Amino acid sequence: MFSLTDKTLYVAELDLWIDSMKSRNRSYVSHGHSDHARVHERVITSMNNARVCRLRFGLRTERKRERLVSAGGAALIPEDRACEFEEHAFNEPWRLGAHELTLFSAGHVLGSAQLLIEGERGRFVYTGDFKLERSYTAEAPEVKRCDVVLMECTYGRPQFVFPPRAEIAGQMVAWARKALEDDVAPIFFAYSLGKAQEALAILGAAGLPLTTHGAIHSMARVYDEAGVAMPPHDKYDANVYDGTSVLLWPPSGRALPKAVRHRKVRTASLTGWTLGRTPSADGSRPAGGGRFGVDAGFPLSDHADFPSLLKYIELAQPRKVLLNHGYKDFTHRLRRMGIDAEFLEANPQLALF
Ligand SMILES: [Zn+2]
Repeated sequence: MFSLTDKTLYVAELDLWIDSMKSRNRSYVSHGHSDHARVHERVITSMNNARVCRLRFGLRTERKRERLVSAGGAALIPEDRACEFEEHAFNEPWRLGAHELTLFSAGHVLGSAQLLIEGERGRFVYTGDFKLERSYTAEAPEVKRCDVVLMECTYGRPQFVFPPRAEIAGQMVAWARKALEDDVAPIFFAYSLGKAQEALAILGAAGLPLTTHGAIHSMARVYDEAGVAMPPHDKYDANVYDGTSVLLWPPSGRALPKAVRHRKVRTASLTGWTLGRTPSADGSRPAGGGRFGVDAGFPLSDHADFPSLLKYIELAQPRKVLLNHGYKDFTHRLRRMGIDAEFLEANPQLALF
């Protein structure tokens, strides 16, 4: 069912690309992160991810326009590329040729979906990025029985066992509160889709004052519109921000915002990769974040940890597991457990599955 064509997942029977990084006539887009979502002539996706993608694609076009205008004037601005959305609700199957397709929640970020393809040859699932632990802001994840699963294994090594989300949330709140008490501006670096809204929900529930980068602010409005209520938060303005609220900032480049360049700050990253380092709740010393050039790190992840990857297989009971996006040695671990697993790479054999 799944094959690698042009280094991209492709389902020949359906003439359907999956999370293609190149623009195609028709592609399934599992969620809005930039390593999965691109503009295509026709995007097949969930209803909430369509909201996310409209914002993402719009922002990109807007930025491109600004660059083109400053480079040579309006005459050079290309027409917006047509991008038609084919939206599907979770668990409402539709037919495509001889197959039935169903989207269901991946629990990764708002709108993130897994794809089930059913036909004469059985049930095939593509997970995309997923996690099994319920987050504060994404739809509850689901696992379906299938014959073949193609899953990500980002954290496919045994040392990746994430603490309960509520525990991480408590540490984040304590760290931010201590910084504010010390008259130091706390800055969390968080991806503008998913991680930032999760941090907003956690810190907002504790009553902390919040300020967000414009990209995070815009995405939070999409969450609001989708019915995931975001706590009150100010949009960052360099002339207004005075360091007395928690600042959420995208991690790209880790350049500090202008308004804090002459202020005392403490920075934190939010990623599963910080695991094994214990964030200090008192914030008095660098903890957990050394590797990332930040003062603290909290293992708040949008991905499944090692036990969750195994749990997924246990629940789905596939006869074949295909893996991508992660450690290749997870394949060998599964084989040692008697599970028929294969790491996805350019291999003609894969066309058989
Ligand atoms: Zn993702």
